[in-house]
Amino acid sequence: MDLTHIEHIGIAVKSLEEAIPYYENVLGLKCYKIEEVADQKVKTAFFRIGETKIELLESTSPEGPVAQFIEKRGEGVHHIAFATSSVKDCLAKAEAEGLRLIDKAPRKGAEGLNIAFLHPKSTMGVLTEFCEKGE
Ligand code: ZN
Repeated sequence: MDLTHIEHIGIAVKSLEEAIPYYENVLGLKCYKIEEVADQKVKTAFFRIGETKIELLESTSPEGPVAQFIEKRGEGVHHIAFATSSVKDCLAKAEAEGLRLIDKAPRKGAEGLNIAFLHPKSTMGVLTEFCEKGE
C-alpha cells in the first residue's frame, strides 16, 4: 500500500452545533465546510490542520452507523482515514491478507473522494478508511 499521510480523522459527535465551537474557539481551527453524506446518514463538518482534516460526524438518523457507534461506545474517535493513490490496490492487499472489508470496491465519500472501509474487527478495533482523490 502506498499510504502518504492521514487524510482525516473521523470523530463521532451527538451534535455538530455543540461540537464546532470547541474546535473553532478553543483549538482555533476553522470549519470550512459542512456536508451531508446521505449514503452514510451523516452530516459532516470539516477542519484542516496541515495535510490532515478533522471530520466531525453527526448522524442524521437514529439507525445510521454513527448513531449506533455513539450508542455503543459514546462520542469520540470513529475512524482513521489514510490517503492513497489507489483505494483499489489497498483493498486488494487487505483482502489478500485475510482482512474483513466493509467495502469490496471504492465508493464516493465526502469531498468527492473515493473511499473504502476495512472492518474494525480485523484491524484491532480501528475502523480504517482509505481515500483517493476522485477525478
Ligand atoms: Zn472518513
